[in-house]
Amino acid sequence: MAEVTVEQLAADVGATVERLLTQMQEAGLSHEKPDQVVTDDEKQQLLAFLKRSHGESAEEPARITLKRKRLSTLKMTGTQGRNKTVNVEVRKKRTYIKRGVLEDEVQPLEEAAAETLVEETDTTEAGQAAPETTADGATPEAQPETATEEQAEKPKKIIPDVPPVAAPGADAHRRGAAKGAHEKGAHKEREEARPRRPGATKREREKGGKWQKEKEIESFTPGAKVGGIGFDQPVAVRRGTVSRPKVLNKVMGQDRHGFARPTAPSVREVEVPDTIQVAELAQRLSIKSGELIKTLMKMGVMATVNESIDQDTAVLVVEELGHRAVQVAPRSIEETLVEKAVAKVGGEGQPRAPVVTVMGHVDHGKTSLLDYIRKSRVATGEAGGITQHIGAYRVKTDKGEITFLDTPGHAAFTAMRARGAKCTDIVVLVVAADDGVMPQTEEAILHARAAGVPLVVAINKIDREDADPERVRNELSQREVISEDWGGDTQFLHVSAHTGQGVEDLLDAIVLQSELLELKAPVDGPAQGVVIESRIDKGRGPVATLLIQAGTLTRGEVILAGSCFGRVRAMQDENGQQLQTAGPSTPIEVLGLNGCPEAGDEVLVVEDERKAREVADFRNIRSRDERMAQQSGAAKFDPFAMMAAGEKRVLNIVLKADVRGSLEALQSAIADISTDEAEAVIVSGGVGGISETDASLALASGAVIFGFNVRAEAGARKLIEKEGLDLRYYSVIYDILDDVRKMLEGMLAPELREEIIGVAEVRDVFRSPKYGNIAGCMVIEGNVKRNQPIRVLRDDVVIYEGELESLRRFKEDVGEVRNGMECGIGVKNYNDVKPGDKIEVYRSVEVARTLGD
Ligand code: GDP
Ligand code: MG
Repeated sequence: MAEVTVEQLAADVGATVERLLTQMQEAGLSHEKPDQVVTDDEKQQLLAFLKRSHGESAEEPARITLKRKRLSTLKMTGTQGRNKTVNVEVRKKRTYIKRGVLEDEVQPLEEAAAETLVEETDTTEAGQAAPETTADGATPEAQPETATEEQAEKPKKIIPDVPPVAAPGADAHRRGAAKGAHEKGAHKEREEARPRRPGATKREREKGGKWQKEKEIESFTPGAKVGGIGFDQPVAVRRGTVSRPKVLNKVMGQDRHGFARPTAPSVREVEVPDTIQVAELAQRLSIKSGELIKTLMKMGVMATVNESIDQDTAVLVVEELGHRAVQVAPRSIEETLVEKAVAKVGGEGQPRAPVVTVMGHVDHGKTSLLDYIRKSRVATGEAGGITQHIGAYRVKTDKGEITFLDTPGHAAFTAMRARGAKCTDIVVLVVAADDGVMPQTEEAILHARAAGVPLVVAINKIDREDADPERVRNELSQREVISEDWGGDTQFLHVSAHTGQGVEDLLDAIVLQSELLELKAPVDGPAQGVVIESRIDKGRGPVATLLIQAGTLTRGEVILAGSCFGRVRAMQDENGQQLQTAGPSTPIEVLGLNGCPEAGDEVLVVEDERKAREVADFRNIRSRDERMAQQSGAAKFDPFAMMAAGEKRVLNIVLKADVRGSLEALQSAIADISTDEAEAVIVSGGVGGISETDASLALASGAVIFGFNVRAEAGARKLIEKEGLDLRYYSVIYDILDDVRKMLEGMLAPELREEIIGVAEVRDVFRSPKYGNIAGCMVIEGNVKRNQPIRVLRDDVVIYEGELESLRRFKEDVGEVRNGMECGIGVKNYNDVKPGDKIEVYRSVEVARTLGD
């Protein structure tokens, strides 16, 4: 860790040099001059001293505020194509509060009222309290003036009835935060400036004598100059109470003496659920919503009447207002809602179709099998060939229907399970007869077992000469998957995804297995289901694939899906047929959500949009908090240690993927790769093409950009080229993981890397009797070559991979078409090309690389 001088340290902790020196001397350190060096040990000594003194003296501050500043640069392309450089200053502020104070906050209110009298004269308004107090590591400089000014301009109407609550300084710094945010409009830029109270708080509160993190504020101030705005002013905190009888409220900003008559405070017990709408909380507090919003603002929380705040914030504000918060845990609005929805699901359960996931080792034929079943079973003749990316479909057999989930394998299955979603009744385990049990076969067995889902084994590639089903049987029996003819209870089928042999029997076996399970679900009443995957479609907005599990979903109903919600505008099945209703075990694609929910998120029908929004808001706040906690690297306690960051090697990644399922699979797999010496951090992950924002984020955080089946938009590409950013495209998950691993190990072996040699944009599509659909294209980049692999991109997302059937210019077959020329392209086995799509031609090249190239 770099050593710092007293001066730097003072700046880092937000104290004046003199103040810090005094404290250091009190701590027994010999420093006298600002330019003297402070070692790590000395910092620890100082910290220990500060902790101790805070613990011992009642005059010492009850909170300590720590600040960190980070400067980075964002490059942005301006309107006229000019490049702007914007300095971004990220300020983090953490306030640690001493446990004792929290307890004081809930002390009997009579006591508090008594204190009122004593203290009233000198400490009244928060902003004024600040200048008097200096006993803190974070000592004030300029704050008081501004606070007072503000107060004079806008006399506050609402003040806590009986505030035996937070220490005045804290109040002041919240006020400062709100004000600063106002001044810079920062709260509009980003919503990060909200206090966060980590989940651990409640537990910590019960422990003794510790500093605990009270809140953490992070604000982004684009273009901010170093050197401060009101927001970040350090604020001294003094232990003690600000108290003010109610009557004083009217005369704020004037002389407050002589109003000392203590009125009997009316203290309410206010029930605070997991999340609560501002309006609702105001009602429970019997105050106007406006007043509550202002109080929240003082605390640095920007919330409108209709927004919801989380429990911790609500408790804080209730106490701030002098009432007692009763946490109604954990029966949250969420649960109540869920219960309501479930309660109404009417009547007896009726038999429903089984939901099946196909699992198995890579290349054992999962996709081929699913494709075979789909092609041979799904109603043929639909326009445009196979719909891409509806992650599920149903097939009819003589004995009943089966719903197949077509998700990207194990990772999605575990991701869903991790979220508590049970969306599979039966796992079909595909094992190649020529290859036998492999690592992912074992993994699949473990997953299915952990989920309590029965297996049906499909021994695939039985058509191959070297097929050895007995070996598979044997190997599986060693993993306690024993076939019926060997006395076990697992059905084994011999199939071929190529010839179709045995596929009928497999379907029969699945139906048989499902009969044993006696799967039932109520059909009437509001629907319940689970998100299979979701993505943004440029024309249609968020599109989500859902599996209905119980009840019936009707078009026009409001649904809540994870932290998203919306009225179902349109609903279609896997064949693109519009539906009015969908019952149990039906996979559907819905339009109308306000965002992309995550795979495995529960879907519920909710009475109205207001209720849906309430829960969605709450969940958004929660997940954002979790994200920020992740980003701040699990918030270490020792503030000095935080300055020493950068010891561990960190590989920052900006990751974009085509669908949620892949994104999640990658996120969790990449997180697993990290070691003690090096870790991979996904600074940003999302669904869709790589945008300019992604690129500038990568630039600012020194990240590599990974595109999984997605491409960079034109603007992003320019920036990437100009700045020499590392952009890599992938279409196989393992390749990404492999690369990450190698990057972390610091050695990048020569490997295949794709090079895009040409891109053609589809302008029009013609039908040709001989070739099927022909795309009339313009080559917009490089050269399009006939004999190279291609991909079809829609909105920068890969929708098809394959090769060209034909490449023509003026009815002539050609081998190559150069940039700026028109041509006709036929894509082999793919008829769904649309105007606006891009066809990219690529080749794999071997490149030697070193870390950081
Ligand atoms: P996945 O990775 O499990 O989805 O496997 P794929 O479906 O992509 O199949 C991998 C390879 O095995 C492809 O080249 C398929 O053509 C081939 N394959 C799949 N099923 C069969 C089969 O039943 N018989 C033969 N001979 N080859 C198959
Ligand atoms: Mg596959």
